[in-house]
Amino acid sequence: MHFHIITLFPESIQSYREASVIGRAEKKGLISITVTNPRDHSHSKHNTVDDKPYGGGPGMVMMALPVLKAIEASLLSVKNPVLKVLTKLSDLFSVHRDTRTKYVVFSPKGTPFTNDIAHEWAQNYKDIVLVCGRYEGVDDRVRQIINAEEISIGEYVLTGGELPALVVIDAVARQIPGVLGNSESLEESRTASPRMYTRPESFVWKGKQYEVPHVLIEGNHAEIEKWRKENHDE
Ligand code: SAH
Repeated sequence: MHFHIITLFPESIQSYREASVIGRAEKKGLISITVTNPRDHSHSKHNTVDDKPYGGGPGMVMMALPVLKAIEASLLSVKNPVLKVLTKLSDLFSVHRDTRTKYVVFSPKGTPFTNDIAHEWAQNYKDIVLVCGRYEGVDDRVRQIINAEEISIGEYVLTGGELPALVVIDAVARQIPGVLGNSESLEESRTASPRMYTRPESFVWKGKQYEVPHVLIEGNHAEIEKWRKENHDE
């Protein structure tokens, strides 16, 4: 699975990308990530990437051209040479209308991202393009041209799409076989996440004692399963 992150702030992706499960999955070759900055694809004199919104209002809007050029460059960096030739002659987004590439533009008013969506994307796509907005967002013609789905990671407004991109990569990558180690479990949904405990059995904090539920220590697997079903994090 290849993730294409399109962002004006590539450095904000770096540390999480290198850490832990995502970093390991990339080293193992199970996933790969390219981060492309529209600023490097701006053809204006001062590398401008944003402009004032039509219709007025505060803030700035990311311009379509640098974003589209960045997406094109990212896709071409991992695609085969034949496609590169074809692209010279035509529009990549129509030539490359293959069903194995998913295009996402982040927006607080998009479709809510869920674990089911993460699972479906992990199964069905080879490339996922994640367009991170900044300021007041991206010129909507980008979404139209690449036929992207608008995705929200929650009912709040962030300052950019970089955290959403990392959230999506993390949730999708862990669904790919081999990404999680044997010691990590891939539960089917968050409702299957029971409350967890580890040693010590009896934990003392500021003079007060906190015990692990007895059923988990007794070793009756049927009882443990029953307890876990009744005690998940919700
Ligand atoms: N006034 C704009 C706010 C844009 S926030 C609006 O109402 O659309 C700037 C960028 O951050 C957005 O373009 C989007 O890419 C990202 N973003 C903010 N909140 C988000 C959320 N809840 N989910 C996904 N992306 C979000």
